[in-house]
Amino acid sequence: MIKSMEEVKAWVPQNLEAIMRIQENELGLAKQNPPTIRFESLDQIYGKYENGEIYLNSSYGGFKTPENSFFGILAGIISFGEIANVKSTLAHELGHFYNDKILEREERNRGTVYLFAGQTQYNAEKSLGNAIISEGIAEYFKRIIITQEDEFEDAEFYFKEDIFIRKNGNLIGINSNKFYRLRYDGGYHLVNPIIREYGVEGIIYISTHAPKGEEIYNLPQWLEKMRKNLKLQGQTLLYQ
Ligand SMILES: [Zn+2]
Repeated sequence: MIKSMEEVKAWVPQNLEAIMRIQENELGLAKQNPPTIRFESLDQIYGKYENGEIYLNSSYGGFKTPENSFFGILAGIISFGEIANVKSTLAHELGHFYNDKILEREERNRGTVYLFAGQTQYNAEKSLGNAIISEGIAEYFKRIIITQEDEFEDAEFYFKEDIFIRKNGNLIGINSNKFYRLRYDGGYHLVNPIIREYGVEGIIYISTHAPKGEEIYNLPQWLEKMRKNLKLQGQTLLYQ
């Protein structure tokens, strides 16, 4: 057990680059300068990635039950009380960082603008699809660093419209337990075969073709479509 946030603050800079090198080697990514790591009081979350920077919760020891969090999606999250969990949180957030780096490069190389976040029009299915892919990729990077078992079963991919909580037709929330498992563990299971097979090209393709609309209700079918399209594109690595 770590005794204080001071230990975390000392541990992170000593271990950050080693974690990054392992992740970069695994996916054949160019060496990146480490992102800024900020230690801030986050509202009931352990880590956050935003605008190229990683935030780790500085309110060590002060976690409350997560039931009141936004959409309740943090239920069941790990304790931040051990270095292993700091490592796991950091490795996950680095996944978002690398995903951004990969997509930035994609945007530069192809002159395209991807609509990944910051959609002006709120669309529940599209947002959920983006969340599943984005968190799945971050989990992939995390699980390069730590071994993690989960109990997610493929049958859980076939969720119904009832994952959304609506009132008079308006979206007021998401079933928190289903959503949590789906976007972290489910997301990992979904992206894993594609990243294993196609590496960075696979990350680019699924990030820019995240499931939307009816596709989110049949994610295995979406996965098959992705594999088929990637196969058609050939296995030529466009960027190395
Ligand atoms: Zn995440």
